[in-house]
Parts: sequence; C-alpha cells; structure tokens
Amino acid sequence: MRDAEHRRNSFIMGAIVGAFRCMQEGRGNDPAMVFGSMLASGAGAALTEGLPDVIDPPTGPSHRDVAHGALPVGALTVAAFNAAQNTPDPIMRRFAEGMAIGPATHLAADATTPKGINLIKRGF
Ligand SMILES: [Zn+2]
Repeated sequence: MRDAEHRRNSFIMGAIVGAFRCMQEGRGNDPAMVFGSMLASGAGAALTEGLPDVIDPPTGPSHRDVAHGALPVGALTVAAFNAAQNTPDPIMRRFAEGMAIGPATHLAADATTPKGINLIKRGF
C-alpha cells in the first residue's frame, strides 16, 4: 500500500473516531465541534500512521516485524488513548486520540493486504 493511500485511509478512520468521541462526550449537537473533532482526530491519525513503516521499513529485511504486530501496537494504542484523556481541551484531546490510533489504522490497512500483519512479530 502506498504512503498516500495509507495517510488518506488513516485520516478517514481518525475522522470517524473523532466524530464518535465528540458525540460520546455529549458535544454532538454542536456541528462546529463535531467538524473540528473530525479534523483534529483525522490529522492526528495521519501524523502518526507512518510509524510502523519507520520502525519496520518496507525496503528492509525486518519489514512487518514487531512494529506491525497486532498485540504490541494494540497495547500501545490503548495506553496512548488512555493517556490522551488527560488533555483538557476537547479538540486537542481529539488530536491526541487521533495520534494514539494512527499506527493502529496503518495496521488495519496492512491487514487487508495479502501479506497481512503479525500477532506479535514476524512469523508469529
Ligand atoms: Zn506497513
């Protein structure tokens, strides 16, 4: 999957999560807040979605190793998402949540390719 495709997919997934989180916090009746939440969360996800490929470069022998593992990335995503809840401003909280889910959206996209992703590391 090309970088631009990854970034676009991550922005869309981040924006959807941002809209849901905005409604979860009872701010769904403010269209500007919903739109801002979608932009902030989408931008955060697009910013960090490339991390798995920075750690496991697509050109290197370790491609899709531990940074493409569902368990390690999932655990870090949950930890980062929980840490994001300490951000007081709602729009900045959406941005932090987007950054937290960015690498997971990359894995979700990679999982749809024939090579798939790993549970923990390459071959496992
Ligand atoms: Zn990848």
